[in-house]
Amino acid sequence: MRPAADVLTRLALSRGTLDRAGHRRHDPDLVSALLADPATRVVVIVGDTMEVVDDPRTSTGRSLALRSPVPADADRLAVFLGEEATGGAPTAYLAVVGNPTEAGEGDWQTLRIAGLHLGDRDAGIFTTAQALANWHAAHPFCPRCGAPTTPELAGWTRRCVREGSEHYPRTDPAVIMAVVDDDDRLLLGRGVQWPEGRFSVLAGFVEPGESFEAAVAREVAEEVGVTVTDVTYLGNQPWPFPSSDMIGFHARALGTELTLDPAEIAEARWVSRESYVESLRAGELRTPSGISIAQRIIEHWLGQTIEDALA
Ligand SMILES: [Zn+2]
Repeated sequence: MRPAADVLTRLALSRGTLDRAGHRRHDPDLVSALLADPATRVVVIVGDTMEVVDDPRTSTGRSLALRSPVPADADRLAVFLGEEATGGAPTAYLAVVGNPTEAGEGDWQTLRIAGLHLGDRDAGIFTTAQALANWHAAHPFCPRCGAPTTPELAGWTRRCVREGSEHYPRTDPAVIMAVVDDDDRLLLGRGVQWPEGRFSVLAGFVEPGESFEAAVAREVAEEVGVTVTDVTYLGNQPWPFPSSDMIGFHARALGTELTLDPAEIAEARWVSRESYVESLRAGELRTPSGISIAQRIIEHWLGQTIEDALA
């Protein structure tokens, strides 16, 4: 393993601060009790958006719109996100899945946008709420028998109404990797669905029965025909689009010849630090999104932020 100092920290979506207080989920009356308590902080998620407001008390000047429970919340899917120690009794946080009509007024943002400028607590709240809301929306029926399922454990499981089987939220691991050659050039690729000029490091889902390191080697071999070695961990962040965790690695290429899988990769190239920055400056290459671990992996290789490199 690389030394800890070399691991990516403070990734945009890995900053959550709430105590999940999982033991409280087993209280079947927890959600109704919290909905009856005006001290409970409620966030509403509508589709893939939450309302963001100006908040001079936070370091970033922005926060999620938090409110006390309202009677209509009792008819919606509510998830206990956890609690925050505030000196007296801990403050409990609930996410409520709202109706599309609610996202009318105010500044409703996606996590891809808000995740960059929310503080630690709220970035974590949005990330967890989005992941759970996605899972509930996709799992109304039992995978064993096809009967409807209903939420339990304060929104952290669903149970089949016919035969009682219990189903847990899924997180699908995906690996994403900086592949470098003997000259420390970085391998970048453009997916077949991506616009012209948008390049990133390679990534792919971990398959059943496969270690993360083996997934790194397999994906690089499949996508560009390169054999890698010395796979080391860099960091990870949840990626609820819809249900992943992106696990970052560094790997060394044993060769530089590229044989692309045309079903996955439209273009791939090796870039030096100088040529990468030049190409960004010239507008020939575009970076991955600012919230992504991909950008952080590229910056880790670059030795500075892209913003600083372009300044
Ligand atoms: Zn069933």
